[in-house]
Amino acid sequence: MKIPPTVRLILATHNPHKVRELSDILSPLIPDFYPEMIVGAEGLGIEEPCEDGVSFTENALIKARLVAQRTGIPTVADDSGLCVDIMGGAPGIFSARWCGHHGNDHANLQLLLNQLRDVPEENRRASFVCAAVLVSPAGLERHCLGKMNGMILKAPRGESGFGYDPIFLAEGQQRTNAELSPEEKNALSHRGKAFRALAPAIAATIKLGGRVTPAQARP
Ligand code: IMP
Repeated sequence: MKIPPTVRLILATHNPHKVRELSDILSPLIPDFYPEMIVGAEGLGIEEPCEDGVSFTENALIKARLVAQRTGIPTVADDSGLCVDIMGGAPGIFSARWCGHHGNDHANLQLLLNQLRDVPEENRRASFVCAAVLVSPAGLERHCLGKMNGMILKAPRGESGFGYDPIFLAEGQQRTNAELSPEEKNALSHRGKAFRALAPAIAATIKLGGRVTPAQARP
């Protein structure tokens, strides 16, 4: 496994969009930050772990621990989803596969809209939740939770974003998440909040240069 020497942090995801997003969130918060400090886990030949945790935090830790242990480099990961109050917090950790197939955003959104078809506006409260975690190869673990409260609309609006964004109206907003610019969404989002809360721990870890050989990493 060849990892460039500039890399100080790995994001345990195979989604390059998330690496860019994390870089944008961290750059104003971490002194001397440069984008080459962060790399995604794609191309490192590490298998995707089974996310069988019972919470967002547990699932994020499962992803980060595996990559930190294999690479010897501090690793961050996130896990997120949509929690609808009247559904007891569902889809929750099952958000990405609510329709039965992993990652079918359109089918997930349509199923949720159908399930909530007869639910009046006042009972459509929901929140996006994100757990952001940092795991060092020596075994240090930190986690932070970010939340964005809002409600589920009756029909989709907007083209940007992903997942349930077209049917989510954040508190105090007139536009759905899919009608906000990426910068506007980052400023409000569960993911932005979770990673901004974790940023001091990430900055300290990068400063300490906590890179060790995989053999020295705690199993
Ligand atoms: P993951 O944590 O990126 O795997 O996200 C899990 C699932 O939650 C996604 O597939 C989406 O369905 C949903 N989700 C998480 N964050 C967002 C968001 O910011 N907008 C819309 N959907 C989201």
